[in-house]
Amino acid sequence: AGERLYLGLDFGTSGARFAIIDKDGIIQAEAKREYPLYLSGESHDWVRSWKETLFSLLHDVPLHLRKHVVSISVDGTSATTIIVDSDSGEPLWRPLLYNESCPDALATVKSIAPPNHTVCTGSSTLCKLVSWWNHVGSNQKHALLLHQADWLLWLLHGKLGVTDYNNALKVGYDPEVDSYPSWLVSQPYYHLLPSVVAPGTPIACLKEEIGNKYGFQKDCVVCSGTTDSIAAFLAARATQPGKAVTSLGSTLAIKLLSNTRIEDSRFGVYSHRLDDKWLVGGASNTGGAILRQLFTDDQLDKLSEQINPSQPSLLDYYPLPKAGERFPVADPNLAPRLLPRPENDVEFLHGILESIARIEAKAYGLLKELGATQVDEVFTAGGGAKNEKWIKIRERVIGLPVSRANQTEAAYGAALLAMKGDQQNIL
Ligand code: ADP
Repeated sequence: AGERLYLGLDFGTSGARFAIIDKDGIIQAEAKREYPLYLSGESHDWVRSWKETLFSLLHDVPLHLRKHVVSISVDGTSATTIIVDSDSGEPLWRPLLYNESCPDALATVKSIAPPNHTVCTGSSTLCKLVSWWNHVGSNQKHALLLHQADWLLWLLHGKLGVTDYNNALKVGYDPEVDSYPSWLVSQPYYHLLPSVVAPGTPIACLKEEIGNKYGFQKDCVVCSGTTDSIAAFLAARATQPGKAVTSLGSTLAIKLLSNTRIEDSRFGVYSHRLDDKWLVGGASNTGGAILRQLFTDDQLDKLSEQINPSQPSLLDYYPLPKAGERFPVADPNLAPRLLPRPENDVEFLHGILESIARIEAKAYGLLKELGATQVDEVFTAGGGAKNEKWIKIRERVIGLPVSRANQTEAAYGAALLAMKGDQQNIL
């Protein structure tokens, strides 16, 4: 009866999920929804899709669990930006999606931000804000900027104008000194920026009408969220400095928990704050995309089975789907290298997996060189994580324990943030 459950909601690129966990981290329920398609004129009405999906997911939560949910958190895609009316919370403009670019704002942003700052890319939240401001915004007296997760959380708690320092990084927030930097404070649109708290901070209780309608308790708290990729990292519960998660999807992305913050725009390396530590990340263009060009998933399984992972492959490749690499080698012209191709496909695949493992090892080495905490254990997520032979190859090449992460869903990470918030006082 007194069971305390935590609800995490993930709004990712292709759909949304929820996960409910108990205090031991055991999943009590989970489900997924695709985003329904609503059109407004020619374009997708994302605000309506997200809102409907949020309430569909609440509806999907098993009835008997609802009254035990004591806190909720939400993650969303990074740099997905919604400008709303600061009184009503209603969107003033269609949302600008994570991967949308506003090149028209880039020159302005570069002229105000320090060189190579994370905001200096066309898809940053700040470029989106500046682009909107230059086109229509400067006439709007009551506007407020929210990220996707902030807006969805607001639908649940009703307290307008709060974000977390992970979502706020790409609008220019400085997580180290915990404030907006002076070059941003002096801008005419500064008043649009939300206040910033740590991820997993209780913001307010769930709105009474929502609680009543769905059967959640009155004192269920709604906590600040994070971005979808950070939530996916949190899911692996790599909570000590030196623990890392390699994501082997279409690309190879690594994230390492570090005591020190490192940034290097040449390699696209930057750090997110996580309480008193830093989550250092970088992404290589190598990864599963090239495997998928060469083999079906079924072939990958069958060929991998025949690999002897304790024997090093001497084939030295740099697998890329097309020319260009950022990390751990910054070379926009780096050519893919997949020659010589042996007759035997088992040998060929072995060479590719081993070459990707060398790139991964080099990536962790580079983070160390740039000043991050030395990695001591690697967890794995993504489609490549299920390949046991690859895990063995990677252990040998990287020289560290490598395993598959127990949990990799961002919704699980969001539920952990809800659990974190349960132990704290409301803002
Ligand atoms: P993303 O979400 O980035 O598109 P996923 O995490 O779904 O990618 O992973 C898909 C990738 O996993 C594909 O590129 C595929 O080649 C790779 N993959 C699938 N099965 C295996 C396997 N057994 N061994 C290695 N890689 C695999």
